Amino acid sequence: MPPGRFLAALEPSDDGDEVIVFHVGAGAVVVEEGASVPDGGHYLGALDGRGCWAAAVDGELDGGLDLHRLWGRVDEDTWTVAGRAVQLVEWDRTHRYCGRCGTETVAVPTERARRCPACGLLAFPRLAPAIIVLVEREDGRALLARGAAFPIPMYSCLAGFVEPGETMEQAVHREVHEEVGIEVDEVRYQASQPWPFPHSLMLGFTARYAGGELNLDEREILDAGWYAPDDLPMIPPAMSIARRLIDAWLARAADR
Ligand SMILES: [Zn+2]
Repeated sequence: MPPGRFLAALEPSDDGDEVIVFHVGAGAVVVEEGASVPDGGHYLGALDGRGCWAAAVDGELDGGLDLHRLWGRVDEDTWTVAGRAVQLVEWDRTHRYCGRCGTETVAVPTERARRCPACGLLAFPRLAPAIIVLVEREDGRALLARGAAFPIPMYSCLAGFVEPGETMEQAVHREVHEEVGIEVDEVRYQASQPWPFPHSLMLGFTARYAGGELNLDEREILDAGWYAPDDLPMIPPAMSIARRLIDAWLARAADR
């Protein structure tokens, strides 16, 4: 099952409350008051006062939803817990052996880590920082692009992973130049969002167009253009950081 694949269902509990059970491929998240710790479970935190755990279990769930399709069907807090569960179960399942010497790792009881008993290498949950940037031009138009990975003709901000040795701001300059060929300045951090596909952290920026002609990297970008606030293509849904950046730009335009 690919990373981020995720199934969820509401099931009645003995006392009549609904218990949310998320299945993460071969794993599950149980949101249940007073629930016992599942074997090998990861504590996720409390949601509305109820403890949440992610645990690996066998089997699938009829009528479940994957993490993408769960989006918009539960509130943002629940979805965030679900994403946290996906990342931790996926990390646990992909770090069972030491990356240095191949020995089977063991869970560290006092922190969220796996340790190699032979060479001592510690493995912590992985996070891959990625930048996402809304580029605005002096005439008030913003650059929106259709990524080659989007299954639908949706236009969004540019995004890409931060590379080793790079600052977030350098990543913004490089990604924009690589994907659409232009230069930007006034790179400003705005907000961030966990993005569990499979373990990204999206860092949202705005930037100002500073020169160059659009020249698309067609492996990544199918189409891109400068859009006016009153003439938008299909844009990402609410709850995404892309949409927050776009909505903030629209609000700035409305104030002018
Ligand atoms: Zn080792």
